[in-house]
Amino acid sequence: MESNLGVREFQRLIKEEFFHKDSTRGLAKTFIWFAEEVGELARAIRHDDRGHLEEEFADVFAWLCTMANLTGIDLEEVVRKKYAAGCPRCGNKPCTCKEAFK
Ligand SMILES: [Mg+2]
Ligand SMILES: [Zn+2]
Repeated sequence: MESNLGVREFQRLIKEEFFHKDSTRGLAKTFIWFAEEVGELARAIRHDDRGHLEEEFADVFAWLCTMANLTGIDLEEVVRKKYAAGCPRCGNKPCTCKEAFK
């Protein structure tokens, strides 16, 4: 296990572990798996279940990395570009956007 596992390193680790299977399955089917994990996260939130919360956050993030690998997206780069300098809409850190949904 690598120490200081950043987003880029984790995405690469997922690629090493699963890309041979992911590339055969393809993006559309992989998205279905991802959506299923999002559903499992929803259930863990609804049941306020700490153990499952931890697991499902890990699953959702791993499947997100898989889809990024399949599309050649560097997640660390794109999240840094979009979010690191402040809110993508108002530019502030912390965000001062008016909440659209209440
Ligand atoms: Mg799961
Ligand atoms: Zn904002």
